[in-house]
Amino acid sequence: MPRIPGVRSRLKDTPVVGHKRVLLAAPRGYCAGVDRAVIAVEKALEHYGSPVYVRKQIVHNIHVVSELESKGAIFVEEVDEVPEGSHIVFSAHGVSPAVVNAASDRGLQAIDATCPLVTKVHREAVRFARDDFEILLIGHEGHEEVEGTAGEAPEHTTLVGSPDEADTVQVKDPNKVVWLSQTTLSVDETMETVRRLRARFPNLQDPPSDDICYATQNRQVAIKKVAQDADLVIVVGSANSSNSVRLVEVALEYGAKAAYRVDYASEIKQEWVDGVETVGVTSGASVPEVLVTEVLESLASAGYRDVEEVKTAEEDLMFSLPKELRTNLKGAKDKRALGGRNRP
Ligand code: SF4
Repeated sequence: MPRIPGVRSRLKDTPVVGHKRVLLAAPRGYCAGVDRAVIAVEKALEHYGSPVYVRKQIVHNIHVVSELESKGAIFVEEVDEVPEGSHIVFSAHGVSPAVVNAASDRGLQAIDATCPLVTKVHREAVRFARDDFEILLIGHEGHEEVEGTAGEAPEHTTLVGSPDEADTVQVKDPNKVVWLSQTTLSVDETMETVRRLRARFPNLQDPPSDDICYATQNRQVAIKKVAQDADLVIVVGSANSSNSVRLVEVALEYGAKAAYRVDYASEIKQEWVDGVETVGVTSGASVPEVLVTEVLESLASAGYRDVEEVKTAEEDLMFSLPKELRTNLKGAKDKRALGGRNRP
């Protein structure tokens, strides 16, 4: 198992005026879709042996990826890097039909670990395109999830990357437009984008249900509460994790005096905590709890031993493993992923 770098804290216990404490946001960390995707790779490795190939990072977390690499997973950018006939896992962010076809043409045995909540958005895109709607897809250009969703209906989809882009995007028929979104956006910013789209296109149709997923929403609600009382917020998560980066933005917007994202506890800088009474801590949906524990230990060494959990929701969602594993692992005991559990 890869070592977590810098577990030993270099933070000093410097004096503050008041009482040092940590407000620990809940829910935080692993969501059901991430848990399922990581278990899918582990099960594939157990059953088929290494190597198992994974297209893109299975989830956007550097530690999770290196842990799976150490068990025999090989991460590739595209299916043409994979030897014919091999097993390939599609990541939690989903893939376009073009990628599925390319894997099939190459004779790869695909295991689809796309989060079911991303698949839901794909289905919406297919349905609205079939009904000849123009889809305004709110999301970040180049993000794998956006590429996968847009790939379901490329002729019908236009990306809207920000509220400002809502003011300029052009459509063919303003009476036949629908908005969909990436699952990991800022709820507030997305609603602002929709408000500005609707100001221009009053007949804009909404998705049948929220595209921003429960886990993204819950983590933002929790950090909003924490941020009101925090001098500093530390978000554990990787730089390419959309929902982790959004948590930093939301914390700043809701009152945190400072907010930073770290992959590991060793990245916390002394000057961030100097003079700080209250530190808020949370983690993105692709972050194993062990990384949060290391952050708490590091903070404890700097005098932040009083930890209060701020819980704004309970999560108990679970998804079944990808169907390819359910079929191929017939007889195996473990057929389900446990959503939201604290994995070591
Ligand atoms: S963040 Fe949401 S959409 Fe993404 S894997 Fe987790 S539950 Fe699924």
